[in-house]
Amino acid sequence: MKILVINAGSSSLKYQLMDPDTGDVFAKGLCERIGIDGRLTHRVPAKDIKVVREIPMPTHSEAMTAVLDILVDEVNGVVKSVDEIDAVGHRVLHGGAKFTASCRIDDACKEAIRECIPLGPLHNPANLMGIEACQKIMPTKPQVAVFDTAFHMTMPPKAYRYAIPDEYYENDSLRRYGFHGTSHRYIADRVAKLMGRTDLKVINCHLGNGSSLCAIKDCKCQDTSMGLGPLAGVPMGTRAGDVDTTVAQFIANKYNKSIDEVLTIFNKKSGVLALSGGLSSDFRDLEAGAAEGNEKCKLALEKFCYEVKKYIGAYAAALGGLDVLVFTAGVGENGANTRAAVCEGLEFLGVKLDPEKNAQRGDERIISAPDSKVTVWVIPTNEELVIAQDTAELSK
Ligand code: ADP
Repeated sequence: MKILVINAGSSSLKYQLMDPDTGDVFAKGLCERIGIDGRLTHRVPAKDIKVVREIPMPTHSEAMTAVLDILVDEVNGVVKSVDEIDAVGHRVLHGGAKFTASCRIDDACKEAIRECIPLGPLHNPANLMGIEACQKIMPTKPQVAVFDTAFHMTMPPKAYRYAIPDEYYENDSLRRYGFHGTSHRYIADRVAKLMGRTDLKVINCHLGNGSSLCAIKDCKCQDTSMGLGPLAGVPMGTRAGDVDTTVAQFIANKYNKSIDEVLTIFNKKSGVLALSGGLSSDFRDLEAGAAEGNEKCKLALEKFCYEVKKYIGAYAAALGGLDVLVFTAGVGENGANTRAAVCEGLEFLGVKLDPEKNAQRGDERIISAPDSKVTVWVIPTNEELVIAQDTAELSK
């Protein structure tokens, strides 16, 4: 089978054509600057092909046409015709409390995604544009929506409710939803396979540009660090993470800013970028800065690791113990120093890293010492594979 996985943003559209059974990626790429001018970057991993083309993309529709054109291109393509594509899977940010699993896209599903726009005002409209562009160009292909929030819908009320007046939950659905659900689900399933059992208490640290932790028991989400939106939890590349809301009130009042303007600061100008004095949101730059003695870079890294460590402690308590700790995503998979700093001092929880294994590069691997009570893994995440597998399953 060949599944086209689409992740549409407001001015971008990422794609992967892949085999849901083997995980092989035939081609992948990115359309950028949609609505501005338009650029397509296309790769065929097996042939080491990389093509960059400037193509006018006034809307997502032209972007999708450009994607299909290059997929069937005689030189750079990977299929003879669009008929070879079996179905299309879409990453959708917010499924609200309605979607506890992926769903085949029909009018009702699209309407439900539209109803979730107040909860995901930036992403859901873009996701819908991607869906509608595909429907227009490939009207007969099965399309499936895979929600970033769905995996978290097993959280109990004590984890997802905010302690604010009831009416905001009853009338406006304000609650913790959590994100990166497709990644956390991939890791939960993968850990069960690797450990040969499902009855495990797992904490997954998805540490990338955006970061979230997830407490998982018996393969189901019990709690997660992001909330109604993706701003909550640990500090991130440019997002503040948990901040006392009084800080927002203070900045708004003193600097005459609207709540939207303050949240833009918390979303785009905060996190490790802010703590490093504006140097960088990229952990490689921060590590280089810290190695040269830059105190702000050191603080940014320390703060990040400290907050991740605190969530691990909290989730171990919430789960009533810990069997497996996982690091995934850009920083989690590659940042050996970050992993070491996060795990330092967690021996009382039964976490003992093997420094040599932690320092080695590689794919899926155990980095804890043989006598560590908690097994610590590095597992590269694969959200696209989950989307492709759900899409294959639901388009049968
Ligand atoms: P996104 O949330 O955009 O998907 P990624 O999961 O790709 O992000 O993670 C991007 C982050 O991973 C960047 O901050 C980058 O610095 C970090 N990263 C990548 N390689 C390394 C490395 N070798 N060491 C430390 N951090 C790394």
